[in-house]
Amino acid sequence: MAQRQRLVIATTSADKAREYRQLLANAPFALTSLSDVGVTYDVPETGQTFAENATLKARVYAELTGLLTLADDSGLEVDALDGAPGVYSKRWAGDDATDAMRNRLLLERLSGLPDVQRGARYRCAIAIAAPPPRGLIGVVEGVFEGRIAREPVGQGGFGYDPIFFVPEQGRTVGEMSAEEKDAISHRARAARAALPLLERLASDEFSPR
Ligand code: IMP
Repeated sequence: MAQRQRLVIATTSADKAREYRQLLANAPFALTSLSDVGVTYDVPETGQTFAENATLKARVYAELTGLLTLADDSGLEVDALDGAPGVYSKRWAGDDATDAMRNRLLLERLSGLPDVQRGARYRCAIAIAAPPPRGLIGVVEGVFEGRIAREPVGQGGFGYDPIFFVPEQGRTVGEMSAEEKDAISHRARAARAALPLLERLASDEFSPR
């Protein structure tokens, strides 16, 4: 059997890399990471949307690695904050803030608001690119609806998960196991949408150097 093409999962986050290895376990590629191929460069996220940032990263890392590349951008959109922190989800509380500090700040900003005004969603855009000249192959998105809880609950997941409450389940993502989160998350939905694209690509003529 021919050797599988490599697909770089271009994230420097160990949490996200773990989630993608799970989510794309059935993809017809040998999954590899940026560190496996010796790339340490961090692409600045200068786009205005998740899709723009994912595209930027997929193109740059495909060029740097010479391999097919999947990159994403994700974050939290809070209705009461007009969609903020959005693409600034990681940075909006300052570069040195921890997850706990960001969660506390968000709870403060929503303090006193009733449940109906605490709507929020996680959004994830995934872009897939080949090295030049082919460049961008496609962009897909996944959305995960919920609301901001009154206080952090649970130790699971990462980032905003302890304050992201899923009404259908009556609990926060922080209370879910990795498998439970992977079944319904924004990243899971985006990864599922990316699979048909990856399957088409695997049977394609593209051969990386
Ligand atoms: P990025 O996609 O690495 O830029 O992530 C942006 C930020 O969004 C993360 O640092 C988290 O604060 C938040 N975020 C994205 N996905 C999740 C998730 O699944 N759980 C919790 N926080 C998330």
